[in-house]
Amino acid sequence: MQRLAAGHVAQRRGDGMKILIARLNHETNTFSPVPTPLEAFAPRYGEEAYRDNKGMRTAMAAFIDLAEREGATLVTPVSAMANPSGPVHAAAYDALTNRIVEAAVGCDAILLDLHGAMVAENSADGEGDLLVRLRAAAPGVPIGVALDLHGNITQQMVEHADVMVGFKTYPHVDMYETGEHAARLLLAMLEGRGEYTVRWHQLPLMSHSLRSTTLEGAMKRAVEAAQAAEHDGLPAVTVFAGFSLADIEAPCVSVVVTSEVTERGARAAQAVADRIAMQIWEDRAQFVYESEPLETSLQRAHSLAVDATRGHPYLHCHHWHHTTARSNEPD
Ligand SMILES: [Zn+2]
Repeated sequence: MQRLAAGHVAQRRGDGMKILIARLNHETNTFSPVPTPLEAFAPRYGEEAYRDNKGMRTAMAAFIDLAEREGATLVTPVSAMANPSGPVHAAAYDALTNRIVEAAVGCDAILLDLHGAMVAENSADGEGDLLVRLRAAAPGVPIGVALDLHGNITQQMVEHADVMVGFKTYPHVDMYETGEHAARLLLAMLEGRGEYTVRWHQLPLMSHSLRSTTLEGAMKRAVEAAQAAEHDGLPAVTVFAGFSLADIEAPCVSVVVTSEVTERGARAAQAVADRIAMQIWEDRAQFVYESEPLETSLQRAHSLAVDATRGHPYLHCHHWHHTTARSNEPD
């Protein structure tokens, strides 16, 4: 009975609420000659975008689940994801972002599943430019964003989002949880249970992605500090390692805090962002990856091959050629 009653209340609360939910993901390696046309995204639109995510582990799947639980009407213009490659073609960027911006008009809230390191031929700040357009198209409508830990955060992104939450794991296994976190805060805003804003601290530090694992070292400690700050009451704290293979102004490490809008809340959030950033700065040497000389690496591989008496194959790879980073050279 109790569960039924609670469900009924939620249904009533969300009744008539219209929430825009979209997914647009690309980690752009601006040095890669591999093109990124519209087809690379295998875009899904409308009902298909919904079906592409429902029941999956994406951030968008979490947005859908939470919005449905509230009884909201979902507007899902786009779900599009391309593997890392060169700058997104201008026509593709326009086609995908235009659909999202057009769908925003008349919505009560916006939830976006973005990467954070997208560069297009016509936009050095793919996510930031999209958020600016959304703010203009739907003024006063709260915007929540879920991002990849390798997002390159910009002032534009911070200014034009009310809630910003990134993955806390690399390898990434918490996409759904990140979406859930962002959606939870945004829904609280809609229901008048909270009002949020974003504070941040960016460091002049470009991390190597092999040093951004959250399983050990400086990145692990930084994420633990973020989790502790959330435990102490801040709405959301994320450490973004950034994606350094991007020829943009600042493909750098950032600490981003979603805070209460009150002066006290914002001050506390900024203090935490500054403190974690200082911790990272002290540990900065650990974000550098010293690769061994090719000759040494080949010798080591050769001895491994000689020892591989049980016939197990092994691969000798350049990091940036791994299956999702895409080569800096043509395939
Ligand atoms: Zn990533």
